[in-house]
Amino acid sequence: MKVLLYSDAGAELEGVREQLEGIGIRAELRGDFLKRFAGEAGECARGLAGLRLGMPCSNSPRRPLPGEVEYERRVLAGECTPGGVVYHALLLQSYLRGFIPAHEAGLDVVHVVLTERLIATCDAGVPHLRVVVLGIPGLVSASGAVEAPARSREYHLARALMSEAAAEEVSADRLRQGDERLSRVLASYAVQVVFYQIFGEAFCNSAECMLYDSRWQHEVLRAQLSQKLCPKHERMLGRLRDAVQ
Ligand SMILES: [Zn+2]
Repeated sequence: MKVLLYSDAGAELEGVREQLEGIGIRAELRGDFLKRFAGEAGECARGLAGLRLGMPCSNSPRRPLPGEVEYERRVLAGECTPGGVVYHALLLQSYLRGFIPAHEAGLDVVHVVLTERLIATCDAGVPHLRVVVLGIPGLVSASGAVEAPARSREYHLARALMSEAAAEEVSADRLRQGDERLSRVLASYAVQVVFYQIFGEAFCNSAECMLYDSRWQHEVLRAQLSQKLCPKHERMLGRLRDAVQ
């Protein structure tokens, strides 16, 4: 088994690779996914711009506006990061999958793309932000780890009844952009991708396990930040460590 770690839209890889190594999973750094595999930048920019989610969202690629294509070209050139734009998670995954070369498309090669793009699935016309999309390649959204898990009920209550500042105070402990804990959390999501591809295990019911499908910020800080596994998944990790080349 091999784990290949890529970046997309400016995501940082080194910290996540180190964290994965701490868990016992050696990953090979591959650099920027699209720079490595995609051909002509203009064609790629058009493809990506068509994967933006509109409102109401749809599960088909859309026809992009010229300004959107130009924006994607700038993201690809590293001139900016795609802040505030939301992409269709499954269409983006399928788009990237099309670039994986046949000799690395086997089930024993795990491709994980760490992206700065916000990604969402579309359910009945409503977008739902995601941190992770399991499959080939697995997508882990760094900006999604900050934005997707919901803030606590206490936060929303304090914001409605008092002020934004008061609300920040009652739920101060959450992930923020540039948070030094992010690489640790993102490594846990990368482990979810590995477990899904190698064992077919999608998530865990234990809220203490890093494979838990956290919906709230406080759950992310408990499950993904702790990097602990439940006894069953700890045993499976032992088998993975032996299998990584
Ligand atoms: Zn577990």
